[in-house]
Amino acid sequence: MSEQVWFITGASSGFGEAFARYAIGQGHKVVAAARSIDKLDALAAEAPDQVLAQPLDVTRTSDAEIAVKAALDRFGRIDVLINNAGYGVVGAVEETPMAELRAQMETNFFGAVAVTQAVLPTLRARRSGAIVNISSLGGQLSMPGFGAYSASKFALEGLSEALAGELAPFGIKVLIVEPGAFRTNLASGGAMRHMPAHPAYSETVGPTREFAHAMHDTQPGDPAKAARAIAKALAAGVTPLRLQLGADAVDMVRGHAERLLADLETWAPVALD
Ligand code: NDP
Repeated sequence: MSEQVWFITGASSGFGEAFARYAIGQGHKVVAAARSIDKLDALAAEAPDQVLAQPLDVTRTSDAEIAVKAALDRFGRIDVLINNAGYGVVGAVEETPMAELRAQMETNFFGAVAVTQAVLPTLRARRSGAIVNISSLGGQLSMPGFGAYSASKFALEGLSEALAGELAPFGIKVLIVEPGAFRTNLASGGAMRHMPAHPAYSETVGPTREFAHAMHDTQPGDPAKAARAIAKALAAGVTPLRLQLGADAVDMVRGHAERLLADLETWAPVALD
């Protein structure tokens, strides 16, 4: 594969770090972006000629613009943008203060949009490249307690679907990635924000809360394998719009799609009346 430049947000941990290591291993250049660049020291030290460690808080639009300029100054182009930065909120809709819901959207949705807008002019000018948006199986379906998280990922998926059509004439691919549970820091105390529990929701949201607590370090998915799967999808002649990762994601998205079709068939006579 010819040398590429990968721009990865949230590269300090989990998936982002795994994507960066994969790209370095392939001989690519990497713009590793994170809120605190000291967390990128080890990565940058491993391959100083290949890595630009760049401060970027995706909720600050000006950071995105500065980071893209720094990437172009250093490497001359960007081939692959991976909008990966994100975190999770766990709580019933009623338990989630509006400020928490808005903050979730700011990072997982508006943050990805801001970085995409900053990168697009250079991708369009070169009429090539790819935008990879890290969604979740929670971007296709939801369950009690994941309303805020799913809202942010559904929003990202909706925008990505439109973007794919807008960018196809420029030869730019858009790939939505829907992982199941993978071993990253997402479920650790800091990255997963648990809303104050109301007893009224103990039966519906309680199991989700317990699942989110218990999954840390026991998730089946290996982020390094996710990186390889994404690279394979990007290199394919026909890149899919969506790529599920992990048996849990495949099973749950398939089940959801089947229920959607079954409901559609059942209610089509009413819809068409
Ligand atoms: P981690 O917590 O390990 O990594 C999240 C990364 O996002 C960190 O590098 C973190 O940086 C960064 N980040 C958070 N907020 C911001 C911000 N405002 N600006 C810039 N960077 C930010 O979790 P994952 O690797 O799992 O998460 C990566 C993506 O994968 C997320 O979008 C998540 O929703 C998605 N995902 C994860 C799944 C899983 O099971 N792990 C399943 C499905 C989707 P910092 O060090 O500064 O906090």
